[in-house]
Amino acid sequence: MKVFKFGGTSVGSPENMRSVMNIITDGEPKIVVLSAMSGTTNTLVEISDFLYKDLKNDARRVISELKDKYIKVVEELYESEEYKAKGLDIIDTHFAKLYEQTEGEFGATMEQVILAQGELISTALVTFLLNENGHKAELLPSLEFMRINADKQADLKEIKSRIKPVLEVTKSEIYITQGFICRNIYDDIDNLQRGGSDYTATLIGAAIDAEEVQIWTDIDGFHNNDPRFVEKTTRIDNLLFSEAAELAYFGAKILHPLTILPAQEANISVRLKNTMDPSATGTLISNKKTTSGLKAVAAKDGITAIKIRSDRMLMAYGFLRAVFGVFEKYKTSIDMITTSEVAVSLSIDNDKYIDNILEELEEFGDTEVDKNQTIVCVVGDMASEEKVFAKNIFDALEGIPVRMISYGGSQHNVSILIPEKYKKATLQKLSDNLF
Ligand code: ADP
Ligand code: ASP
Ligand code: MG
Repeated sequence: MKVFKFGGTSVGSPENMRSVMNIITDGEPKIVVLSAMSGTTNTLVEISDFLYKDLKNDARRVISELKDKYIKVVEELYESEEYKAKGLDIIDTHFAKLYEQTEGEFGATMEQVILAQGELISTALVTFLLNENGHKAELLPSLEFMRINADKQADLKEIKSRIKPVLEVTKSEIYITQGFICRNIYDDIDNLQRGGSDYTATLIGAAIDAEEVQIWTDIDGFHNNDPRFVEKTTRIDNLLFSEAAELAYFGAKILHPLTILPAQEANISVRLKNTMDPSATGTLISNKKTTSGLKAVAAKDGITAIKIRSDRMLMAYGFLRAVFGVFEKYKTSIDMITTSEVAVSLSIDNDKYIDNILEELEEFGDTEVDKNQTIVCVVGDMASEEKVFAKNIFDALEGIPVRMISYGGSQHNVSILIPEKYKKATLQKLSDNLF
């Protein structure tokens, strides 16, 4: 069995939903993971922000505008009165759920219920579309098997044990299921963070030991740089799991940061495909090395750099352990680290506990903080390009105020920390110099 995932744009209009139908009805059994229609999750976030601020009328206005959009979608999507009625029924049910959240006092669990409606609606609409066109397809409710643990990490063991009985009860050739949403240890609705449908797909792939996971999106595959900021990027045919994992983690928006991990562990290849051009090759992510050299550049914003300077570090042991202990205490993971004899610089992407962390770090030495930084990550096989890659990277950085550089943690990654406002220029210069 294969797992196919379609993102927001791929299900973003009745026309695109029909393209999805054509792609998935090739006669092969599959589980199809769908995102919410593009823009919907952003609107749902807007609604919960209004409710958080107790602006109920604004929330209701946005809900009503969104409902109008969906009514138009239903009118266009189905041919028959029967399916138009079924579609409208689904819209009524889920929008009633949204209006329900505007009553009473607002809380975190309500926010998650609001965010979940996008995927619940899109999957129901596409299942009806398939049925109206004579295809047997069943909804596979992801809230019955997708789970996260107390640390908000996907719980693959639980997912595995829960998905099998669900698949046995609802026998079908095509299963349609919701990306992104899940339940937590309290059995409340929760999610895998923004862009999480990709992660749903590989988690399901690992849980059922799928033959392959295909991520269908609005671009022809993984590009060697971020096409939103850089001109003339090109598609990569093959990536290693480790390379793709690194690029996703360091900001390549095409994949949720954790997408590759379940696939890599289960050795299930991931193919990136374009819904708008289904016959194009796309990108294959697997454990097979096909080419060497530098592959791609990605960037991750919202990084905070912290420098701790202390003479006590000189020739001393135990200093780094003590520093790391502070980050561990506040459950804050460190992305980059560089050291000199008397200072250590590191970067974090979650500064929720920054004040507590800084207060405790004061004990070890003087601290310095730089916010609004970006990690630019160059990925590929550095060993094979030893002669030129360092020169090319450093040449490209001319005129960029680099805050940190890290190489050697692995043989396939150079990370460069720069102020956010230099991101576009850095990406473009690296692109020009490396590819
Ligand atoms: P979906 O809704 O299908 O999940 P996303 O918007 O999350 O789609 O991801 C696809 C987008 O990722 C592309 O349209 C592109 O703008 C962006 N992107 C960023 N970096 C890359 C990259 N290296 N290769 C391809 N696309 C990228
Ligand atoms: N709909 C969710 C989001 O917009 C999940 C996804 O699209 O992957 O973040
Ligand atoms: Mg996405």
